[in-house]
Amino acid sequence: MLHPNDSSKFSPWLALGCLSPRYIYAQVKAYEQERIKNDSTYWLGFELLWRDYFRYICLKHGNKIFHRSGIRRLNVSWKEDGELFDIWRTGQTGFPLVDANMRELASTGFMSNRGRQIVASFLTKNLGINWQMGAEWFESLLIDYDVCSNWGNWNYAAGVGNDKRGFRWFNIVKQANTYDSQGEYVKHWLPELKHIPAGILHEPWKLTILEQQLFQVCMGQDYPNPVVDLFESARINEQTYASASPLDRPI
Ligand SMILES: Cc1cc2nc3c(=O)[nH]c(=O)nc-3n(C[C@H](O)[C@H](O)[C@H](O)COP(=O)(O)OP(=O)(O)OC[C@H]3O[C@@H](n4cnc5c(N)ncnc54)[C@H](O)[C@@H]3O)c2cc1C
Repeated sequence: MLHPNDSSKFSPWLALGCLSPRYIYAQVKAYEQERIKNDSTYWLGFELLWRDYFRYICLKHGNKIFHRSGIRRLNVSWKEDGELFDIWRTGQTGFPLVDANMRELASTGFMSNRGRQIVASFLTKNLGINWQMGAEWFESLLIDYDVCSNWGNWNYAAGVGNDKRGFRWFNIVKQANTYDSQGEYVKHWLPELKHIPAGILHEPWKLTILEQQLFQVCMGQDYPNPVVDLFESARINEQTYASASPLDRPI
């Protein structure tokens, strides 16, 4: 999520048509022949397949990708709570990995693919908010905004797209410990948490008063308390999702 070479960063050029995906693919193949075939060459080709895939999904489903019920025509009763949405949008949820990603997006217009999946899961599966609001927020900020990739991925992340597995959510703390185990990324975007050791950084609500003093952060003042309980909110939203009825016509 943090380092320039963690991913190619080709997306803005691809989205604006300045760079051809076929050209990249051909270069990757040439590089593999002339130099080396490795994980990076494999993944670059693989990610370009996702790009193509969402293009074909859009060709197949047309305007349904923009509808609340998505391409699966699921009538989920999403919340449209402006206050809660603002908390997510401005990176004030109290979950450091979510907040760091949202602040990166607001400052730079970019967010890693991992980050996008995490914040989209949090908005829809923990806050239960209408995914279209998230997609529109991304659309307004992303320097690599692309209709098919953005709306296709949001359909997918919200569970109204082409993921047959239904309600899948990301455990934010687990993701943080896996992908930001030393807390480098979170500390970069949330300097108010910079003195907290990596072991507890991703769950700052667990800090005792003494620890807060020691690590120079006052919870609820310098950094927000969590806006929801991670597991309880996912449980409730899973019930809402499970009670959604399929529709004859998209809404
Ligand atoms: C909710 C959500 C919204 C997204 N919105 C956009 C968007 O508006 N524009 C956009 O270009 N990408 C979008 N993506 C896909 C992905 O996050 C970005 O393409 C990627 O982070 C760009 O970084 P990179 O160029 O370093 O990617 P790399 O990992 O280096 O991948 C190379 C290229 O493959 C393509 N790619 C990679 N992952 C995906 C993916 N999941 N879906 C489609 N194409 C992919 C991109 O063109 C990317 O430049 C979104 C993903 C999610 C989960």
